[in-house]
Amino acid sequence: DVRVRFPPSPTGNLHVGNVRSALFNWVFARHFGGTFVLRLEDTDAARNTEESVRNVLDSLTWLGLDWDEGPEKGGDYGPYVQSERGAIYRDVVARLLAAKLAYRCFCTREEQEEREAAKPKGSPSGYDGFCRDLTAAEIAEKEAQAVPSVVRVRVPDADIAFNDLVRGEVRFAAEHVPDYVIVRANGEPLYTLVNPVDDSLMRITHVLRGEDLLPSTPRQIVLYHALAEIGVGSGRTPIFGHLPIVMGEGNKRLRKRDPGAGLAEYQERGFLPEAVLNYLALLGWAIADDRDVFRLSEMVDAFDIRRVNANPARFDPKKCEAINASHIRLLEPAELADRLVPFLVRDEVLSEPPSAEDRELLARATPLIQERINTLSEVTPMLGFLFLPDDQIEIDPAAGLKPDAGPVLAAAAEALRTVESFDHASIEAALRAALIEGLGLKPKVAFGPVRVAITGRKISPPLFESLELLGRESALTRVAAARA
Ligand code: GLU
Repeated sequence: DVRVRFPPSPTGNLHVGNVRSALFNWVFARHFGGTFVLRLEDTDAARNTEESVRNVLDSLTWLGLDWDEGPEKGGDYGPYVQSERGAIYRDVVARLLAAKLAYRCFCTREEQEEREAAKPKGSPSGYDGFCRDLTAAEIAEKEAQAVPSVVRVRVPDADIAFNDLVRGEVRFAAEHVPDYVIVRANGEPLYTLVNPVDDSLMRITHVLRGEDLLPSTPRQIVLYHALAEIGVGSGRTPIFGHLPIVMGEGNKRLRKRDPGAGLAEYQERGFLPEAVLNYLALLGWAIADDRDVFRLSEMVDAFDIRRVNANPARFDPKKCEAINASHIRLLEPAELADRLVPFLVRDEVLSEPPSAEDRELLARATPLIQERINTLSEVTPMLGFLFLPDDQIEIDPAAGLKPDAGPVLAAAAEALRTVESFDHASIEAALRAALIEGLGLKPKVAFGPVRVAITGRKISPPLFESLELLGRESALTRVAAARA
């Protein structure tokens, strides 16, 4: 039975690297009919907030990455929030100490630095195992003096190798894995402890995560072996797959604070969740050489973790936007209209809830922009003019109406006033007759001022269709106002 997990530390907004890990795990679980576990790694109390927790849950929900076990869902291996698992960790540590798989270390930082400096040149750096074999008497004495201590894992003196699903065989030389700390002097358990303990107790079979975590993998493997020895959890070491690094601008690793790195931004700009997931899938995976737009269900069917590319993936915001545009084109117009509503409400173009009349107008206008917008938030500049009262159309100074537009607008007004039927074909014929034949203007010079007058902007949906949707009365009012 496949069991995978997504264990974010709720310390801020999710970033694209996190979300890619969540996606690959979710898809892997769904492909095999397995279980996707959400676990909150919030042991670093100072950096975690209630708000970040909410953000994680809301973001996954928005993306449609539903979890089978975890917060708000429960499951057989809870609690799924690490700050509620303190007693479990204390018990595991006590058993590791009793089995001598871990030990108390009383070395101060100064002592360690001194010994580090005294090491012969070329020897591996890191803790030298000084406290490994303190006698019971020595320990008792330190404790009597209340010398602060951390807990370290006793790392066996052997190379650590494993078969990574993405990278193939990975090997760490024994001397590069020193005895490392699992509990701080203040009693706080560390990531190196709680992450493998929970993976083991939660019966996780596969760990798919970013390559940035590769350095902690050998340490965790040591701990899985130790846990197996004391009979904690599944007794098995999960199979690892480390997903390629995501590179941002200038071929540097994409960092959490880089522009475009936070998921919230995509939500605000009106990316479709399915497009975000589609794009993130491309950071390491491809459905086919010649295809980069696909549905999540297709990814679930086709996903093979062994076909994930180990080379760094380049994060490309332009490409992400292009993928989003493709998904917008794929929607049924009615569905697209539904998804536009929250943006028009947010931008105070529509009321909440929108009137039936406005919804009807939006339904008619949506096909005009479906091929023209790359993100949902572009709906406001594109269609806002249809919903605003006539006296609230502000003419964008950059769109500019030249002083010589007067005669053009006068002739246009006359044509709009007299055209018999106010449908786009008749409007087009009337405006062409009045401006192009009548005034001898080029189309751009003829129609530009009309567009600016009714929308306030240089760029809009097709002009004649826009005029039809706006209706004769508003069109005339706006043209008159622009002439004034
Ligand atoms: N809490 C860790 C992180 O968010 C989990 C890493 C892992 O997948 O093991 O970086």
